[in-house]
Amino acid sequence: MQWSEPLHFAEMKVVTPGTLAEALALLQEHGGQARPLAGATDAMVRVKEGQWRVPLWVQVRRLPELNRVEVADGQVTVGAAVPYGRMLGHEGLRRSAPLLLQAVREIGAVQIQAMGTLGGNLGTASPAGDGLCALAALEAEVQLLSAGAERWVPMDRFLLGPGRTGRRPDELIGAVRFAAQPSEERSLWQKLGLRGAQAIAIVSLAMRLRPGAVPGSVSLARLAYGAAGPTVLRARKCEAMLEQVGELDPARIRGISQMAWKEVLPISDVRASAEYRQQMACALLQRGLMRLLRPGEEVCRHERV
Ligand SMILES: Cc1cc2nc3c(=O)[nH]c(=O)nc-3n(C[C@H](O)[C@H](O)[C@H](O)COP(=O)(O)OP(=O)(O)OC[C@H]3O[C@@H](n4cnc5c(N)ncnc54)[C@H](O)[C@@H]3O)c2cc1C
Repeated sequence: MQWSEPLHFAEMKVVTPGTLAEALALLQEHGGQARPLAGATDAMVRVKEGQWRVPLWVQVRRLPELNRVEVADGQVTVGAAVPYGRMLGHEGLRRSAPLLLQAVREIGAVQIQAMGTLGGNLGTASPAGDGLCALAALEAEVQLLSAGAERWVPMDRFLLGPGRTGRRPDELIGAVRFAAQPSEERSLWQKLGLRGAQAIAIVSLAMRLRPGAVPGSVSLARLAYGAAGPTVLRARKCEAMLEQVGELDPARIRGISQMAWKEVLPISDVRASAEYRQQMACALLQRGLMRLLRPGEEVCRHERV
């Protein structure tokens, strides 16, 4: 085991275990006093701002078990320490996980994408985490590893609140897995921010729709909102309505979208009021449904976001 130089800030003590077993042993031994570190894009900021005081960081980004990307038998597995930049260049992910890659493409800019990871996005558990939102719509499961044990937890049991997860201090996020998106599925990532890039979402929406037997209908709808509640939220009532209503003409699309405000629980903060977020939750859903189901049809001017 090799002790690396402290990172930029004197109080950050980082140890780099050589193997997964060593990393898990360190987390077990130090309990809540040690925390995993991957790309450090969140950690550096939080440490600098004095929000996170962690006696020992366990650097896990080079562990091979956390760096795999597998697309096989209709299932996608992405290691927790795979940097976003590598995901974006992965041909199998482009085919099988277009929704996730749409979201990842908008995370930070190239520097953040070179270092940032899904494990870090999950670990920080921000309600505005872009990766989390796509993973919730994909109904992903999170692999939690501890010394001698492994468990897979669905997103809605992993994310418990702002900055709160179901991970125990002795556990490491190993990977996420989800079913590959079939070719007939259409998906869309929308992020409303105060500027076009490098912005924390005001509201975001990850959408998946699968066509139904009746033209213009859907057999499966999955909708996950970011920055619209204490954690990423699935809009389950809207999903059910979309799956049951039959053909989705513009009037039905508008009617269902207007129900979205009931599915979100936003707060007012420096970026937007809760009321604005509720309105935008409806507008993003309407715009997304029109784009995916009725491309080329104009959304009325006053309905644009
Ligand atoms: C300029 C800038 C722009 C950004 N833009 C965006 C954006 O557009 N969208 C967005 O969602 N985020 C954004 N972020 C936040 C950040 O980049 C992401 O959350 C990123 O995914 C964090 O990954 P990381 O590997 O750097 O995490 P780290 O900083 O290394 O870790 C973050 C947290 O996750 C934990 N952790 C990391 N890996 C594991 C693991 N394997 N197991 C258990 N816990 C783990 C750590 O203990 C820590 O608590 C931005 C950050 C910056 C500085």
